[in-house]
Amino acid sequence: MNEVEKKIKLAVNGGISFGAKLNAKQLVVIAEYMNDGDELELTTFQQLYIDVIESKVDLAIEKFKEVGLSCYPVGNYVKSLRTCNFCKGAEEEGMPVAIELNKRIAGKQVPFTLRPAYTGCPVGCGEPLVNDIGVMKVRDGYDLYIGGKAKGKDARTGILTAEQLTPEQLYDVVDKIITIYTENGKKREPLAKFINRFGIENIKNAIA
Ligand code: SF4
Repeated sequence: MNEVEKKIKLAVNGGISFGAKLNAKQLVVIAEYMNDGDELELTTFQQLYIDVIESKVDLAIEKFKEVGLSCYPVGNYVKSLRTCNFCKGAEEEGMPVAIELNKRIAGKQVPFTLRPAYTGCPVGCGEPLVNDIGVMKVRDGYDLYIGGKAKGKDARTGILTAEQLTPEQLYDVVDKIITIYTENGKKREPLAKFINRFGIENIKNAIA
């Protein structure tokens, strides 16, 4: 009897740009790694989930990258940054900062899946206030919210934790928050719950 080869779930998207889009070439390459009857899962976080045979994962990631797709692990990791459509322009809305932030944090191992979101102006199309980490560009600075929760009866908006940060300050503060959560969070403890237990003031003091 043939052994069924293990499959690994990958999260794939077209990277950070003007809206969450995929082109025809990218769709064709994704389809090459699917068999008849396989399905793609479309998540609410601007990612597609695809199950790839374990022995082909490295090759698939390479081929996906060749056509501009980004790949991320699925599970207790920082997800790729959900963004808005940058409707007023890449520079004005901080797209390079969003790309750099994503590069620094996406895929980091954490106690429980962590959803970061970014939005280029206070209209907030990327919904930063109802995600674990939310960044909102306001004028020339970046405001940071943490502990937002979109689901459940205890849904809530994030707590404004730092205001008018420069890009470097933003990367540093987000990194510190993820480190505090990683070192002190319990296994499978969502960030919002961790903040309740650890205390927002303790977090603010640690990042000051
Ligand atoms: S948050 Fe602002 S910049 Fe981003 S898509 Fe919405 S209106 Fe445009």
